[in-house]
Amino acid sequence: MLNTTDPQVKFALNAVRQASLLVRQVQLDLVSPALTKNDRSPVTVADFASQALIGNLLKQSFPDDPLVAEEDSSALREPDAAETLEQVRSFTARFAGDCDAESVLSWIDHGRVDTARRFWTLDPIDGTKGFLRGEQYAVALALIEDGQVQIGVLGCPNLVDAYRPDAASYGSLVIAVRGQGCWVTPLDRPGEFERLRVSKRTNPEEARILRSVESGHTNVDQIDQFAAALGVRVEPVRMDSQGKYSVLAAGKGELVMRLLSPAKPDYKEKIWDQAAGSIVVEEAGGKITDLSGRPLDFTCGRSLLNNRGILASNGLLHEAAVEALQRIGAQ
Ligand code: AMP
Ligand code: MG
Repeated sequence: MLNTTDPQVKFALNAVRQASLLVRQVQLDLVSPALTKNDRSPVTVADFASQALIGNLLKQSFPDDPLVAEEDSSALREPDAAETLEQVRSFTARFAGDCDAESVLSWIDHGRVDTARRFWTLDPIDGTKGFLRGEQYAVALALIEDGQVQIGVLGCPNLVDAYRPDAASYGSLVIAVRGQGCWVTPLDRPGEFERLRVSKRTNPEEARILRSVESGHTNVDQIDQFAAALGVRVEPVRMDSQGKYSVLAAGKGELVMRLLSPAKPDYKEKIWDQAAGSIVVEEAGGKITDLSGRPLDFTCGRSLLNNRGILASNGLLHEAAVEALQRIGAQ
């Protein structure tokens, strides 16, 4: 059972929920059809405001806990960023209460370290391209102790019941706690938690593969080769962000693949892109490793330096998938 009275669980749920509602507000207010393709300013505002809000809440709940997060305040301190900083401050204030720019900058940098024995790791907006397209994105927060993820929370404003894309509905707040399972509650009105479990499909022909929308974040040709090698007959589903892990945990997909993009064959995954999602998958009964079947190693700082790519599955199809990856030389 999920112990929602645990202070760490309470903090993580509240922080991710608040930040998710904040970034959705930025989405609604600043992302318009008129936005030019290269204008990433709404992402910048949402990224910093989400991190400031969570930094501040962490400071209040666990003042001594470090935070390994994607952003730091240096770019926002530049003189030409004054307008952006004011936008960040104003969105943060809607959720944190009245605050000045200096406080917001200090919250963004709160607890900043590269690693520690116990720390939280945050992606203030995972799936920034999805955020700009009005599709899938997530706020992802995890607690890591001695290299093991203990708690993971995903706030997915455009995902219903942990799996169904719907930008006009109540969204999902997904939490996994080591030994307590993986659960979802509506983001807009948290209440009952429903348990998530991975699918029982064992037939590779029916395996639903989840992959990035962005071709540059994976290897599309190799995913096709993999599907052929494993005998998959279902077309892969494209989705941004760690929402993919939520869908897998909800039993609506069997495999999440992060193959290495040919443009960046040495890419090392960032821990905030994988930590929350990894425990979500594991506590729903699934398995997550790198492409060779090695466990993810969260002990080497900001990146998964000892791993290459990611393979997550419902567990039942994992071994066959690792073998297929080996056969096509994708490891
Ligand atoms: P997705 O939504 O699946 O496309 O994944 C988004 C995440 O991919 C971002 O948070 C980035 O940190 C990460 N990313 C950026 N470049 C790459 C790359 N070359 N290969 C894999 N992941 C990447
Ligand atoms: Mg990310």
